[in-house]
Amino acid sequence: MNYRSIKGTKDILPSESSQWQFVEQTMRDVFHRFNYKEIRTPIFESTGLFARSIGELTDIVGKEMYTFEDRSKDSITLRPEGTASVMRSFIQNNLGESQPLTKVYYIGPMFRQERPQAGRLRQFHQFGAEAIGSPTAETDVEIIAMAIEIYKALGITNYSLQINSVGDEECRPRYKEILSTALRTIADKLSFESQKRIDQNPMRVLDSKDENDKLLTASMPLITDYLNEDCANHFERVKSLLTAYGIPFTVNGRLVRGLDYYTKTAFEITSTELGSQDALAGGGRYDLLVKELGGKQTPGVGFAAGIERLMMILEKKGIQPPQRNPKIFIAAADEASREWVLTTTMRLRSAGISAETDLLSRSLKAQMKEADRQRSEFALVIGTMELESGKGLLKNLGDHTQQEIVLSDILTFFQQ
Ligand code: AMP
Repeated sequence: MNYRSIKGTKDILPSESSQWQFVEQTMRDVFHRFNYKEIRTPIFESTGLFARSIGELTDIVGKEMYTFEDRSKDSITLRPEGTASVMRSFIQNNLGESQPLTKVYYIGPMFRQERPQAGRLRQFHQFGAEAIGSPTAETDVEIIAMAIEIYKALGITNYSLQINSVGDEECRPRYKEILSTALRTIADKLSFESQKRIDQNPMRVLDSKDENDKLLTASMPLITDYLNEDCANHFERVKSLLTAYGIPFTVNGRLVRGLDYYTKTAFEITSTELGSQDALAGGGRYDLLVKELGGKQTPGVGFAAGIERLMMILEKKGIQPPQRNPKIFIAAADEASREWVLTTTMRLRSAGISAETDLLSRSLKAQMKEADRQRSEFALVIGTMELESGKGLLKNLGDHTQQEIVLSDILTFFQQ
């Protein structure tokens, strides 16, 4: 074989696509219930958009983006996440002009050059939503509740929600200063990665996965103790609303997430059903992002979630979508009947019924085997005898009953 798919990418095979369609449809239904409308943005954008919004110092921008120069020598990047593109589109198309609150969702592929492993791909899929234009804690909780509602609608209940406040442009720099100073006293004992972050991105040190770093930073000051009044009140309101909605959560003062644009609320949903890559979804508030990208100061909040990880849980739990198989398979018993079989199959399809027939000139026995393999609900064998009498035997392949059917009535029979 000459060609194989690129490392870290995966085909969604015909045997899996009905599961994907089922999951996507369930998401769309939930988004609709919350009155979010779909937005579809291009999968590539100017590199600067991502560097500016996600942050130059983040892992994504620093080492994971698929960036290339196109033939016009413009720097292009395959989108590593959805929020930056949605904000670009929001500003470019003046989406905020006609309404004070813009509620949108997206579903689609994202690209990051990470080391592939179970639950971590280079082309993966996310669904996500953004509520742009509202500074209220009510909006944060709507976004969190909607993400959770999607998992519930899919039968996934084994998840946990962690929340934090990462402060704003007033209290965060103050806290970062205090944290950097504290971290400097133990700098030489920290992992190399964490040492690099002490000055520029000290909050990421608290989020380090390194066990020794975790021990060393166990008693470091946490942002939740340094929030200003506005951020503290906002955080309190988020917590009390989550409680009122009956959504369990834990506060994790170390949660910062890998993107720079968050302010105030940050959250993550994890599942114990997954291995080391246990993050199902993450999100938060980004009150400075639209302005940062050249738009008017506009607050916003959103989440993004991985679809492959959700699929892994569905598979583990044996949650199967309703199968979409043909309603009827019409088999031709002889050459002379083939034309009737083909045209009737076509007429059924035009009438909205899923119908299948043989295109490989197979024997009757092989055709019947195929009808079973396709899990067709009914099978009908047509030969010269049936065409002469105008009647055939319709077999129910599920319960093995059969009934006589007048061939000229076949369309009305299946349309009922
Ligand atoms: P992030 O945009 O990094 O906050 O990621 C949001 C969600 O997308 C994560 O919680 C994962 O479920 C999923 N995700 C992120 N990166 C990958 C990846 N490389 N492969 C598969 N899923 C991913």
